[in-house]
Amino acid sequence: MSALILDGKSLAAKTEAELSQRVAALKAANNGQAPILATILVGGDPASATYVKMKQNACKRVGMESIAVEMAHDTSTEQLLAKIEELNNNPDCHGILLQHPTPKQIDERACFDAIALAKDVDGVTCLGFGRMAMNEEAYGSATPQGIMRILEGYAIDMSGKHAVVVGRSPILGKPMALMLLNANATVTICHSKTQNLPELIKQADILVGAVGRPEFIKAEWIKDGAVVVDAGYHPGGVGDIELAPLVDRVAAYTPVPGGVGPMTINTLILQSVAAAEKSLG
Ligand code: NAP
Repeated sequence: MSALILDGKSLAAKTEAELSQRVAALKAANNGQAPILATILVGGDPASATYVKMKQNACKRVGMESIAVEMAHDTSTEQLLAKIEELNNNPDCHGILLQHPTPKQIDERACFDAIALAKDVDGVTCLGFGRMAMNEEAYGSATPQGIMRILEGYAIDMSGKHAVVVGRSPILGKPMALMLLNANATVTICHSKTQNLPELIKQADILVGAVGRPEFIKAEWIKDGAVVVDAGYHPGGVGDIELAPLVDRVAAYTPVPGGVGPMTINTLILQSVAAAEKSLG
């Protein structure tokens, strides 16, 4: 069996073409005003700086603008909250991205939750999470929402399937599990205290790896015909799942790179355009 490659890169490129048209229409209807995403980077972590740059570049590709806020490594929670408040009140800013992780002294949860719901285009607030969980309108957390868009884009059947999510972080594993549940999958969530991880993974019709450890999930734990989604990305182009031995015996898989990563950024941009459409009318 040759597996279907869930090509996030080409799906993202296709969506960018559509988004460019939506942005052009917004500009035409609003005196040339382009939608604006504010990115906030606190501290000089090189990986975070690269992710923010990639998000700003994606804005440019579809004709959006970005406000790049860079704050010092020793920024306090109060200073960051004040900056978020300023952006909440700025009518020219349609979406706010606070790059995770922030330095240790910052109460990241408080800062995420200070983002106005209408501008929470990265889907990080508790309010947005709760609304998403209840199947109410909300911007989903960008990585799991991007994964759902890949699964839907490739018409992967989720209803009644056993989905196993390895990882339960607030921005990835936990919202992922609820999104799959809302798509009528039967969901198992695994984490660092889970016992018998290989046995649970063996039951997965759909497996999502979001562990943060290179090739932690072994190919031999995964059953033939599964749909495999690898959210991890590590230096050297490896993910959280040992993918190479699987490509001839699973039904479908996301490549690393070129799978989940491009769809995460694309989802942020898609949700920013949607927020601007709501705000600009
Ligand atoms: P995280 O906050 O570090 O969470 C890791 C999760 O894995 C935790 O829930 C942890 O369990 C669980 N875990 C750790 N060791 C485990 C073990 N031995 N067995 C089972 N579960 C274990 O990471 P994250 O932010 O969710 O990111 C996960 C991965 O996705 C990383 O590789 C990251 O690079 C990648 N990522 C990619 C994108 C993208 O755009 N492509 C975006 C975000 C993240 P506990 O809760 O019990 O500690």
